[in-house]
Amino acid sequence: MKNLKPITPDLTLSTTFAQQKPEQGGYSRVDNPTRLLLEQKLAKLEKGKFSLTFSSGSAAATTMLLSLKVNDHIICSQDVYDGTLRLLEKVFNKLKIDFSLVNFSNLENIKKAINPNTKLIWFENLTNPLLKQINTTEISKLVKNTNIKILVDNTFATPIFKNPLIKGADIVLHSLTKFIGGHHDVTAGTLILNNQKLFNKLKFLQHTIGAIPSPFDCFQIMQHLKTLSLRMKHHQKNARKIAKFLQNHPQAGQVSFPGFSGIISFWLKTNPNSFLKKLKLIKIAHSLGGTETTILHPISMMTLSLSEKQKQKMKITKNLFRLSVGLENHHLIINDLNQALK
Ligand code: PLP
Repeated sequence: MKNLKPITPDLTLSTTFAQQKPEQGGYSRVDNPTRLLLEQKLAKLEKGKFSLTFSSGSAAATTMLLSLKVNDHIICSQDVYDGTLRLLEKVFNKLKIDFSLVNFSNLENIKKAINPNTKLIWFENLTNPLLKQINTTEISKLVKNTNIKILVDNTFATPIFKNPLIKGADIVLHSLTKFIGGHHDVTAGTLILNNQKLFNKLKFLQHTIGAIPSPFDCFQIMQHLKTLSLRMKHHQKNARKIAKFLQNHPQAGQVSFPGFSGIISFWLKTNPNSFLKKLKLIKIAHSLGGTETTILHPISMMTLSLSEKQKQKMKITKNLFRLSVGLENHHLIINDLNQALK
C-alpha cells in the first residue's frame, strides 16, 4: 500500500494535532484537513477563490452578518428564505443592523432603498417561494464604484446552473443542506468569495464563533458532490416533465418553473387540504433538493414576514405549493400528483 493514494478523501476526526513547535497552529475548530478540502472544492465549483463552511446555511448567514457594524444597513429582497428574514428582524435588528425589505423585480426599488449606510445587498437569484429570477449583473452594475457588497444566495439555482461571482456578486451563500448535500442527510452551509480581506475577517469569525461543520459532515458532502452535476441534470429533466404535466392539468392554475434546477411552484384550483392528504409518494417536508420528491405548503409552513396585503399581492395564497422534484422515475411522481388531484 506504500505510495498509494486513496481515491476517496481521508476523513480526519482528530480535534487536535501533534505540533512540531509550540507556535504552530493545530486545532480543528480553526482548521481541519477534511473541511479544508471541502472548502477548496466548493470554491472551485462556484468559480471563487475562497470558501468557508459552517454548521448550517443559517450559521453561514449569521457569520456574514456579524462582519457588519452597528448602524450598517442591508437591502434584502422581500421573498427570501423566511429564516433569513427572521435573522434580520429578530436578531440583527436588535444589534442595530438596519435593513429594508424590497421588491427586487424592479431595479428602481433597490436604487431608492440605498442610503449612505448601506453596506450589503442580499437576495436569492431564484426567489422563495415564487421562483422569480433576479439578475445579478444588473444589480452589480447599480452598485459599481460604491463600497456596497452583493450577497447572492445561490441555494436553489446551484453552481451547476448559476455562478453569481462571475456575474458581479461579492459573496455567494449556500445552504448545503439542500441540493449540494442532496440526500437529506447533512445540515451545513458555505460562503464563497474572492476578496482576501473579507475572507480573513470571515475566517476569523468562523473559528471564533465556532459554528463549523463536523469533519464527518464535510466528508459526506464531498461524497455527494461527486454526483451533483448528474443529480442536477436529472432534477431538471424530471422537473420539466412535471411542470408540463401540471401546466396541462385542468385542476392546476399558474405554474412557475424557471426551466432549470428542480423546484416548481404552482397554484391549484381545487381544495388544497385534500390534495396534500392524498399524496403517497410525495412527502410533505420543509427542506428541498434531495433525491426524494417533497412538497411544501408555504402559507402554513413558512413564517412569512409579509402583511396579508403583500401576500395577496404576491399571490402567496392557500392554493400555492412548492414542489422539490426528486430523482424518482418521473412517471411515479406524475401518477402520484394525478391521483391526488382527482
Ligand atoms: N437559504 C435558503 C434559500 C434556504 O432555503 C435555507 C433553508 O431552507 C437557508 C438559506 C438556511 O439553510 P439551513 O437550513 O441549512 O440553515
